[in-house]
Amino acid sequence: MKEYEIAVVGGGPAGIMAAIAASQNSSSVILLEKNSRLGLKLLMTGGGRCNITNLKPIKKLLNSYSQKNFLKHSFYTFTNENLLSLFQDKGLNFIQEDDNRIFPETEKSSDILKVLTDYLKDVVITYNFEVKSIKEGFVINDEIRADKIIIATGGMTYPQTGCDIKNYALTSHPLTDIKYGLVPLITKRDLSEIAGITLYDVVISYKKSKITGNVLFSHVGLTGPGVINLSNEISESISYNLLENDPDISFEIAIDLLPELTRDQLAERFTSDFQHKGKTMLKNYLKLFLTNNFIEFFLNECDLDGEIQLSRINRKSKNRLIEKLKRFTFEITDFNAKLAKVTIGGIDLENVNPKTMESTLTPNLYFAGEVLDLHGPTGGYNLKIAFSTGYLAGMSASEK
Ligand SMILES: Cc1cc2nc3c(=O)[nH]c(=O)nc-3n(C[C@H](O)[C@H](O)[C@H](O)COP(=O)(O)OP(=O)(O)OC[C@H]3O[C@@H](n4cnc5c(N)ncnc54)[C@H](O)[C@@H]3O)c2cc1C
Repeated sequence: MKEYEIAVVGGGPAGIMAAIAASQNSSSVILLEKNSRLGLKLLMTGGGRCNITNLKPIKKLLNSYSQKNFLKHSFYTFTNENLLSLFQDKGLNFIQEDDNRIFPETEKSSDILKVLTDYLKDVVITYNFEVKSIKEGFVINDEIRADKIIIATGGMTYPQTGCDIKNYALTSHPLTDIKYGLVPLITKRDLSEIAGITLYDVVISYKKSKITGNVLFSHVGLTGPGVINLSNEISESISYNLLENDPDISFEIAIDLLPELTRDQLAERFTSDFQHKGKTMLKNYLKLFLTNNFIEFFLNECDLDGEIQLSRINRKSKNRLIEKLKRFTFEITDFNAKLAKVTIGGIDLENVNPKTMESTLTPNLYFAGEVLDLHGPTGGYNLKIAFSTGYLAGMSASEK
């Protein structure tokens, strides 16, 4: 049986970073990856461009996570500056886009993976090795023994990248409910006729949760950063656990298409405009408020004729217009599970020491990345979790 000081299970961003950090203090680190290459999901991130982190100041950054107290120590131990300098030292620089999102200047996630792999020189990497069992004393698949083990097997979405719901049973650690996160929504209505259209800076609401952002229509439903971020709150508010059953969902999403105007302001504006621009056709007038190619769909939903002149619109129709502009609803029938970007839930943080990432139940067992009950919004927040918790786990395991 081969023996190592530290075995890292899973070669995604969390596991790679854990192995890099561990190898700074230990010459006996093995990284076990079930695929024939590392970082398959990492390669897909940011549409292949890799939104590697979010450059908000650290306090604001932490406030974006519901598990901020747990993350605090790892974020301060391995900061954005630490992360980015790893790449800059090897000649890979970064660009910043809106909302503090950071991408490599080459806009290729493969370049991020290449640099990370460079840092693994002192680590033994075993590919096509699926960890199926971890016995006491850390005997892995009856083949490898390690003094310490770091579990970085990720979540359960995009199984083609190596993620698998059965990994949660590798240790007997308690779990929180496993759910879809950052997931598009499927609408009851077919949206083919408006697929590809984006509504910018609208307010999307589900019950009392509201998010300002963009909505992108797909053939089957709603996506785009605003919807994706709101989906986390929706998924969390519904009671289900993918380890037991699929979610049974049916609810309504409302979009405020004109958040900058109140209903009263709109009513006032319409009263005045319908008088002064009486000959204008409704479909042309709406161009002042809505993106062009959404107008026909909108008018159909309002059951209004776009060719009608403004002066001929009666009070009832005017009120319907205002109602639809302020509260355009969609019936949601499912999550688009195949496209869920992250997993909500995982190893319960109650049993993990946030200062080291070590289990409080089993000494020398560590966790890092998405396998933990950690997730953030879109915008570089999830890779940030993987890199910071990965670094802390690797460092702690090698220093113990
Ligand atoms: C399409 C898409 C785009 C995304 N874009 C972004 C983005 O731009 N920015 C951002 O911050 N986040 C993004 N994310 C989220 C981000 O990719 C994840 O949060 C991150 O990859 C989690 O890292 P991880 O190392 O914990 O897990 P993973 O990246 O899932 O890595 C886990 C690794 O463990 C291996 N493994 C699993 N089980 C075993 C086993 N039993 N034995 C051996 N190996 C095993 C897997 O093969 C895999 O290589 C995106 C996600 C998706 C799906």
